[in-house]
Amino acid sequence: MRVLVLLGAPGAGKGTQAAILAQRLGLPHVATGDLFRAAVRAGTSLGREAQKYMALGELVPDAITVAMLLERLDRPDAREGVVLDGFPRNRAQAEALESALLTRGERVELALLIDVPAEELVGRLSGRYVCRLGGHPYHIIENPPAIPGICDTDGSPLEQRDDDRPETVRARLTVQLAPLQGVIEFYRSRGVLRTVDGRQPIALVSRGLIEALEPVTPHL
Ligand code: AMP
Repeated sequence: MRVLVLLGAPGAGKGTQAAILAQRLGLPHVATGDLFRAAVRAGTSLGREAQKYMALGELVPDAITVAMLLERLDRPDAREGVVLDGFPRNRAQAEALESALLTRGERVELALLIDVPAEELVGRLSGRYVCRLGGHPYHIIENPPAIPGICDTDGSPLEQRDDDRPETVRARLTVQLAPLQGVIEFYRSRGVLRTVDGRQPIALVSRGLIEALEPVTPHL
């Protein structure tokens, strides 16, 4: 099983790049934010619980998040591996993932950090739109759709995420940047961290990520 982790602050471009990489590698793109949003839409008890934290820009408690993620890894389509996006978000989650993988004789192959300076993130998040159906991400300037307001992939309307409004954006960055640093240090200490400059255009960031993967995946 190949487990690749995409790391980055909110707005760094994890979702966009995870989708590209997952397609390239033929692995499912597993985003805990998407799983939570689907649970919120479905009105499940998990969704109701998660929503309380998401609305404040805080992290959903580890017990809930880790259980949801491990359940997802057990699904048949994840047998060959996954591209993880938005998980782990703190050191405790990284440790929980490590021990769960260890019981299967596996480990995180690489953790790819998309590095964007904190001061750029607010602008990126406030210009972000996602489609209603599939959550495909766009940016009003950096990555606009062909037809304004409509998703290129599935034709559904684009909307702003509730937590991309300016009040929540600041809270998310305040709350989430420090734990992300803990995750970065965790993977650095395991020798699997690779960093790509996230200020480049989307195609160049993808190229950087693929180059980082080449030593472990030749002929990509
Ligand atoms: P994202 O789409 O990755 O920005 O996630 C949206 C929101 O879902 C976050 O602001 C958190 O409230 C919650 N969330 C997503 N992934 C995690 C995680 N690994 N741990 C805790 N909360 C998470």
